[in-house]
This record gives sequence, structure tokens and C-alpha cells, in this order.
Amino acid sequence: MTDSPNSIESSSTEPEAIDTEAGRAALARFVVVLYQPQDLVNIALVVRAMKNMGLTRLRLVSPAIFNAYRITGIAHDTHEIVDAAELYDEFDDAVAGVVRVVATTARRRASQQVWSEPDQAGPDLVTRSAGGDIALVFGREDKGLPNEILDRCHQAVCIPTNPEHPSLNLGQAAIIVFYEIRRAVRSSFHLEERDLSGKRRDQAPSATAAELEEFFGVWERAMNALGMFRGVQPITKMRSYRRILKRSDMDRRELRLLEATAWRIVHFATRIEARIRDQLGKEARRTSGDGPSSPK
Ligand code: SAH
Repeated sequence: MTDSPNSIESSSTEPEAIDTEAGRAALARFVVVLYQPQDLVNIALVVRAMKNMGLTRLRLVSPAIFNAYRITGIAHDTHEIVDAAELYDEFDDAVAGVVRVVATTARRRASQQVWSEPDQAGPDLVTRSAGGDIALVFGREDKGLPNEILDRCHQAVCIPTNPEHPSLNLGQAAIIVFYEIRRAVRSSFHLEERDLSGKRRDQAPSATAAELEEFFGVWERAMNALGMFRGVQPITKMRSYRRILKRSDMDRRELRLLEATAWRIVHFATRIEARIRDQLGKEARRTSGDGPSSPK
């Protein structure tokens, strides 16, 4: 890609997101533990949610049914997660090596736990993950997590739902929790190159203060050429332009595009002005030439 002002659009063939080493390592600290899942489709939904959010480690404690072939049939392109999934008979064995065990539950009061909502828990858990693995524990579809499992957890995460109908489907609860973990990792490690506006922030460096000043110099000339300062103080109007344009947080390539546009305006206005001056001169010469000869 050239650095010309016209090449601002990025190629659509490039990947949507590029996980950095540090971001991937942080996500790899999270271990998803499904406690006695009853339904294969729900396991598949959790696996799919893990894949979507970049989590890779799955442990199942006494699942009612586990069939890797059928799970990957439902959640496509998740072989690496399902093949590496670990099966345990005992919950304690599944979480033996982790430094923090996080329960997820719809029943915040019954949990008898320090509880928080996923968006609050995410950043804290990502910070804690620097010290070791973290288990995100999900309960069985019909009964949730029993008290003896909740007792073993350090904290609970509750998704605030309608109190009259608090329980989410297992896969839906999972994706909300995983999303908040990913979001927290992203903001800690700049995981994505592409931000929500679709602009690739990392590709063009930020403009320096000097470049910005140079640009505003050209902009002022352009606006002057357009007659924008007639009857007003240029400094006041320029202050407004500065405020508006700085708010858009342009990177260097975008700044160059606008600067090139401003130069075009300057050159265009100069040409028009020269043409008008030329025409006025011709007219003046004609009328002054006509003056003395007309009475004859
Ligand atoms: N009848 C069960 C429902 C369990 S749903 C109960 O009352 O607990 C299966 C699992 O999804 C739960 O054990 C929990 O891990 C997760 N889950 C469902 N709704 C949730 C919510 N609102 N907040 C956090 N986790 C939830």
C-alpha cells in the first residue's frame, strides 16, 4: 500500500482481527469448566462461543454425554478446542491447578458469594490471570451449580437478567461472560488492529504536532482563499476549525488527504482569482479603449 492520500481505504482481503502474542497468552489463561452438562447442543454452543471469543481450553466434569464428532458437527471449525477438551470425574481435579475459580450463576443471593457482573469482573480477572490460570465454571442446565461447588469458588459472576426469569441458556450465558473477558483482554493488550469504526488505527502512525500545525497553515490559506474569513477574525474561525478537525483524531494518512484537499482549494481559488482578474483587466481595457473612440 502506498502512502498517498488516496490510499486510505484498506484492503478487504486482510484478516478482521489479529491477536497479539500477549493477548493470546492472556486468553489462554482462562479455562472453561462445564459442570455436568446435560445436553450436547449446549456443549457445542459453549465451544462455538469459545471459538468466537478466542478461548481455547475446555474441561468437562461428568458430562451426561460427550461426542466430539457430533459437537464439531454442530459447532463447525472447532476441532482444536474439542480434541483438546479434558474430561474429569471430579470437580476438584478439574480446577486443581488454577489460581482462581469463578462460578457463574443466575442466582446471586443463593450464591452466598462475592459476586459481580461480567463487565466488572472481566478487567479484574484479566489482571489476576497474570498470576495463573482462571477457571470459569458453568452449571448444569436443570439445576445450575450445587452449593458444594459454589463453596469451592472464589467469586461468582451473575449476568443481570429479569429477576422473574433469571436463567439464561448455558451457551448464551457463556458468550456474554467470554465476550467480557475478551473485551478486557483487548483493552489490556490491544488485541485487535481494527477498531469498531472499521479503521485500521495501527497502519498509519499518528500525526505529530508539527504536521498538524503545518496542516492548519494550509487549511487557513484554503479557507482564506474561499473567503471564509471575510468580516471575521481568522483566529476565531480557525479555532473552531481546529476544534472540529482535532476531534476526529486523524492519523497521518488522513491528515495528508485533508492537506492535499486544502492545497487543491488554494490552487483552484488562485486560478479562478487570476482568471477573474484577467477578465476584469480585459474589460477595463476595453471600456477605457472604447471611451475616447466612441464619440467619433
Ligand atoms: N435452573 C438453573 C439454570 C442453570 S442455566 C439455575 O437456576 O441455576 C445453566 C448455567 O448457565 C448456570 O449454571 C450458569 O452457569 C449459567 N447462567 C445462566 N443464567 C445465568 C446468569 N443470569 N448469570 C450468570 N450465569 C448464568
